[in-house]
Amino acid sequence: MRRAGTGVELSRSPQVIKTPLETGLLVLAWVGFFVPLIWVASPAFSFAEYALGTGPLVAGVMCLVIGLWLFYRSHADLGTNWSIALEVHEQHRLITQGVYRRIRHPMYLALALYSIGQALVIPNWVAGPSNLIAFAILCALRVRAEERMMVEEFGDEYAAYSARTKRLIPGVW
Ligand code: SAH
Repeated sequence: MRRAGTGVELSRSPQVIKTPLETGLLVLAWVGFFVPLIWVASPAFSFAEYALGTGPLVAGVMCLVIGLWLFYRSHADLGTNWSIALEVHEQHRLITQGVYRRIRHPMYLALALYSIGQALVIPNWVAGPSNLIAFAILCALRVRAEERMMVEEFGDEYAAYSARTKRLIPGVW
């Protein structure tokens, strides 16, 4: 934070949200992510196979490519402000540019697109949607806590940013 007119750089008080719910959500996300690897490496989910159609394959690959691109861009824009846990560190800056200009959670959108892509290209009722289900739960329970933390830290700056942006889908929500 820069104090108006002084050019003096102020440090923020560090804040980390480490509730059992937050830890559980991260574990769930990792489980959802690894289930497709179990499908690749073993016949554990062979009972749930189905035939893959061309339409879902093409749509799925597009979601994966766009998701990976957006993940890369959001990481680049967030820079050192990124963290796996919900936290604000001493030199934290509010990013409102790049892919953060129109939506507040482009990285979560990237992971949602990636999870949808996985659900479409993996022809298995367990391994396909595992990541999507885990991620939907994580998103539903984490976004509001993250935004509360950001309002606490950045106050009016984050409120103004929220007023001119949507959460995940530009122009919609
Ligand atoms: N929800 C964001 C970021 C996910 S990473 C997204 O989906 O793109 C989670 C961390 O990012 C949080 O601990 C928070 O401190 C930080 N963060 C979230 N939005 C931010 C922003 N606009 N500027 C700076 N840091 C942000």
